Amino acid sequence: MILNKKKSAVVEFLPRASSNLIKSKEIQGIPIEPKYKYLGLWLNQKLTLDDQIAHIKKKSDFIKNSISPVLSSRSLDYRKNLWDLFIRPLFEFTLPVDFVETAKTRKNNLRKTLKYTFKCFTKLSKTTPDSLIFELCGYDIDKRGKDIYELQTAKWESRLQNWRDPNFINNIQQDRINNELEAFRELTDEEAKLEIEGLEAEEAKEEAPINRCKWIPAVGIEYINLLTKLCSKCSYKVIMDTNHLRTVHDLHLPDPLELFQEVQKRIRQPGTTRIEKLSQAYTRIKEKVDMVYHFLA
Ligand SMILES: [Zn+2]
Repeated sequence: MILNKKKSAVVEFLPRASSNLIKSKEIQGIPIEPKYKYLGLWLNQKLTLDDQIAHIKKKSDFIKNSISPVLSSRSLDYRKNLWDLFIRPLFEFTLPVDFVETAKTRKNNLRKTLKYTFKCFTKLSKTTPDSLIFELCGYDIDKRGKDIYELQTAKWESRLQNWRDPNFINNIQQDRINNELEAFRELTDEEAKLEIEGLEAEEAKEEAPINRCKWIPAVGIEYINLLTKLCSKCSYKVIMDTNHLRTVHDLHLPDPLELFQEVQKRIRQPGTTRIEKLSQAYTRIKEKVDMVYHFLA
């Protein structure tokens, strides 16, 4: 086999505590590199995500800077969509490596990077609680990694089975169809209809994770950022979150996620136009933001 020397490289993979065994700089004209980008993922000699993380940060900063004029007054919803489009795919590549990574600092590093990029895109303050960031961004590295791992393992196992028995997949599929048909034969038409609707609803739920930023305008970001500031009415250093405002100052405000959820539920009413939805969401959240400003005045 002849390799294209311009498009190939050799990477010597090593256990974490070892150093290079190959001392030369090339093998038959193919360069030996400390890292290489393969199918969108930067792989280094120790199979850590350090290089991919650096790549994600660089790319995220670059994209953010080039679109920041467009971003300035954009809604939380719009900003999350941009993050989904540009940044989320970069994390997808990291999942298989992260899943088998055992070093805690390295695992933390990846999660920190996720928070960093999401804050960059949304302009949420540095002190925003982690749990809120993860809810808003809707990307759970652990869960997603586990899903991918299980899917790949199942694929691999069925492939192995398939090599031994070419009808393996067909047989499984046929069995499944037979079982489902058997179950349906016992149902009345009405029951079958309900059953199908239930299955469809479940499928839809699995495919589309809840978007907690849906319909949330820029004022939603302002609300979160106000509630992560230090309280200027107290003489000691304390974050002015909803709990503090309620217990110390008797000011009752909803948690951002609760408020967003309430807004989303309310505007889901049929017949509401897009403009109406946006203006309803704005009015409802602005009301709460003004309550904080009124308290601070
Ligand atoms: Zn206070």
